[in-house]
Parts: sequence; C-alpha cells; structure tokens
Amino acid sequence: MLLTLRDLRRIAVNKMMYDILIVGGGCAGLTASIYGARAGMKVLVIEGSSIGGQISSSPKVENYPGFMEISGMEFSDRLYEQAMNLGVTLEFDTIQKAEKLNEGFKLTGEYGEYEGKSLIIATGAKHRHLGVPGEEELSGKGVSYCAVCDGAFYRGKIVAVIGGGSSALQSAELMAGYCEKVYLIHRRDEFRGETALAERLKTKENVEFLLSSVVEEFVAGEDGKLDTLKVKCLISGSVSDVVVNGAFISVGQQPDNEVFKDLVSLDSTGFVVAGEDCKTTCEGVWCAGDCRTKAIRQLSTAAADGTVAALSAAEYLRG
Ligand code: NAP
Repeated sequence: MLLTLRDLRRIAVNKMMYDILIVGGGCAGLTASIYGARAGMKVLVIEGSSIGGQISSSPKVENYPGFMEISGMEFSDRLYEQAMNLGVTLEFDTIQKAEKLNEGFKLTGEYGEYEGKSLIIATGAKHRHLGVPGEEELSGKGVSYCAVCDGAFYRGKIVAVIGGGSSALQSAELMAGYCEKVYLIHRRDEFRGETALAERLKTKENVEFLLSSVVEEFVAGEDGKLDTLKVKCLISGSVSDVVVNGAFISVGQQPDNEVFKDLVSLDSTGFVVAGEDCKTTCEGVWCAGDCRTKAIRQLSTAAADGTVAALSAAEYLRG
C-alpha cells in the first residue's frame, strides 16, 4: 500500500506523546494551545470540523477587548496563525473515545489515536434545534442555523430569525442588510442578547419584531422549500401564518461531551462540571470555554478559560 504524505504525518502524530492534548479548535482551545506552547509544552489540538468554532460564523465581533470590530472569521484565522507560529500541532479528527492510562490519556478518533500527559476539553457547543414539525425536513431547504454561511442566498427576500440572544440579534442585523424584510421572532418580550445590538435593530425599517411568539411549524410550499411559518403569539394564543423564503434558527447551543462522560462528570444538560479554575473531576483534565458549566459564555471568557486551563496544565506537568 502506498502511503501519502498525510498518512505519514498522521503516523508521526499518532506515535507522539504530547504534553497537552486539546480537543477543540475554537477560541478556548486555540488560546489554550498558545499559552501551552509558550509555556514550553508540546501541544496537539484536535478539531472535528473547522478552526475557530462558533465565532468563525459571527459576522462581527465588537466586544472583544482591543478590537473595535473584527469578523469572526478573521479573528479565528489570527488565532490559528498565532498557534501555528508557536509550533502547535493541529489534526482534524473526531474523537470517539477518551481513556485514562496509567500515565496520561489516550484519545481515539476516526483516523488515529493520540496520547498525552494531560488533556484540555474545549469542545464548545452545537446549534440547538427547536424540535418542531418541518424543521428537520426543511433544513437546507430554507431552514438554516447560520446566517453568515447561508445569508447571501436570501438577497432581496423575506426571512425570519428565531431567537433572542446575541447570535440571533447579529444574524437579524446581517440579514437586514441583504433582505427586503426580516422578522425577528423571540419567545419573550425582552432579549438576552446585548442591549446595544437590540437598540440598533430597532432603528432598522425592514426589521419587524414578533415578540412573545414561537414558531410552531415550518411549512413547505409546492416547490418543497420553506414557504410559511406557523407563529403562535403566547399572549393571545392565536396562530398566524408568516410567509418567508428563509428562516435562521439561532436559539443557542448545546454541548456535545458524551465521549468524555466516563472520564469527567457532566451536569444534567451535558456540560462538563468545572469551576473557574477549569479543573474537572479527573486529575490531569481541564475544561475550557462554552462546554463547561459557567454563567457567562463569551469569547473573552472562552479565552480566559483557555489561559487558565493551559497554565494549570503546564504547572501540573512541571510537578
Ligand atoms: P444564547 O445567548 O443562549 O441565546 C439563546 C436564545 O435562544 C435565547 O434568547 C433563548 O430564549 C432562545 N431559545 C432557546 N431555546 C429556545 C427554544 N426552544 N425556542 C425558542 N427560543 C429559544 O445563545 P447565542 O445567542 O447563540 O449566544 C451564545 C453565547 O455566545 C452567548 O454567551 C453570547 O453572548 C455569545 N455571543 C457572543 C458574540 C460576540 O462576542 N460578539 C456573538 C454571538 C454570541 P430565552 O432568552 O427566553 O432563554
């Protein structure tokens, strides 16, 4: 069998004993890799899909200290470049098993096995679904979870954004720039997201707020694509049809930590139990960013966690 360069590189990575294994290449994971590498540690970051995590699909980041405004994609690119310059190794793989060895930890992915003396879990979180009729069937046919990725398809059209957090507000603002009309549908009459963002949206003529309202069903038109939302007003109980070309569901994230459940404690909603010191219930394992139990999930707090986890891991390794 002829081995490709990629195969050879994987074999080399698989045979290495790293000081710090980091699962997740978002803001928390990459920050941890930067601090780990700068502390002289041999660091491997394993990422399942794309570098940067959630923030890479954020159109504008305006609240990260030191940046008046930067796109999520550029922010992610800069983190990646900084980590690579410091000699961090990056592998794309999806971890399926995590084990504690006599000394250190072993992760098994689709493509290889990775061993390290310590582990930082920085797996972030995934898009939450509404779980209402029509949502799954029309996903990719008008229903989307990412305005940055799919927004441009709806230029001049009518769309809805569902949710009341900063992501939903940002998505609505982005779509207001492209679309004839944007409905912002939120289940409460106030927003969880940043006040400055909400205030800015209120000034947009093509944005209509449907508050205290929930989408009960996504209905297809004759062409099989999304055509109508059945929207229930929680105050009056009435259900009305809202005709749209697209809907962006932005109702938060849920963690995906199942693979670590035998190694560390998870709370009832699947977040890794860890405090501000990022220590998990297993010695030698830290958890950083949105995947851990915490009150505030922000880019800056993800970076802070990455810092704490990596420096604690380095201190632990030095004994
Ligand atoms: P989020 O802050 O958790 O907001 C989720 C929103 O979805 C909430 O308004 C929630 O309503 C609503 N929701 C949840 N489940 C729902 C359901 N089943 N049906 C209808 N609505 C539902 O999530 P996010 O906006 O994705 O933000 C995630 C984190 O990233 C947050 O900490 C946020 O501040 C941060 N973020 C930062 C930036 C930035 O730094 N620029 C940008 C985007 C996001 P309730 O309010 O009623 O619970």
